[in-house]
Amino acid sequence: MPELPEVETIKRELERAVLGKKITEVCVHHPKVIREPSVEKFKKGLTGVTIKNILRKAKVLILELSSGKSLVIHLKMTGQLVYPGNGKASRVSFHLSDGKILDFNDQRLFAELRLLDDWRSLKFIQGLGPEPFAIDLGQFKEMLAKKKTKIKPLLLDQTFISGIGNLYAAEVLFRARVHPERPASSLSEKEKGLLLKEIKDTLTEAILHKGSSVDQYVQVSGQPGNYVKYHKVYDRKDKPCLVCKHPIQRTALGGRGTYFCPKCQK
Ligand SMILES: [Zn+2]
Repeated sequence: MPELPEVETIKRELERAVLGKKITEVCVHHPKVIREPSVEKFKKGLTGVTIKNILRKAKVLILELSSGKSLVIHLKMTGQLVYPGNGKASRVSFHLSDGKILDFNDQRLFAELRLLDDWRSLKFIQGLGPEPFAIDLGQFKEMLAKKKTKIKPLLLDQTFISGIGNLYAAEVLFRARVHPERPASSLSEKEKGLLLKEIKDTLTEAILHKGSSVDQYVQVSGQPGNYVKYHKVYDRKDKPCLVCKHPIQRTALGGRGTYFCPKCQK
């Protein structure tokens, strides 16, 4: 699933590709991805409006429109935005005033598109925890102090911290040398500091390399992101740890595949 670095990459590319352009026609090829309002209202509400501003909240993209409404896009597992698209295999195609098409693709149909009067009213957005880059060390220590839950599922909890998913949680815990099953409140002051630093550094590096192309993620250009080659533990089961050579282990934690080095991560 696209996480903060992938969605941030898409946001920055959309700013270059479609900001200031008018939507001239909306073709809905699969209604399931449109959660609200009705398909007819969705099409009518988007036709003839200009894309005024593009935001990202956690893993969600928000296109603010000249009508005052917003198009909210949650890519979920396999959502893609491709520009210029060809309108052939898309779930929804947005025809733009430059004569080109912004395609919304979604192989598995888990994605959610909404046309809302006010994106701030969306419950999911109201419940989001702080963005990693907005957290300072004092705040992070305070956030962890009260939490007895295991650190990895906690990092995935979007109400605790927003934007981190299964892939980057594994990477940051490896880099901070923290075992994914440690109770959050058991981290030392030094470990908390290192973990926050590695969260920010890892996400920054991943954005720099345009994200990780696992599952179906691609950049807006259709090109893959380049960060996979920098992964240290994710999807490296039985391969030697890059630090100590011990085989990387995979376990299920909170129902999610979790990669770690049992020697390096304590
Ligand atoms: Zn190791």
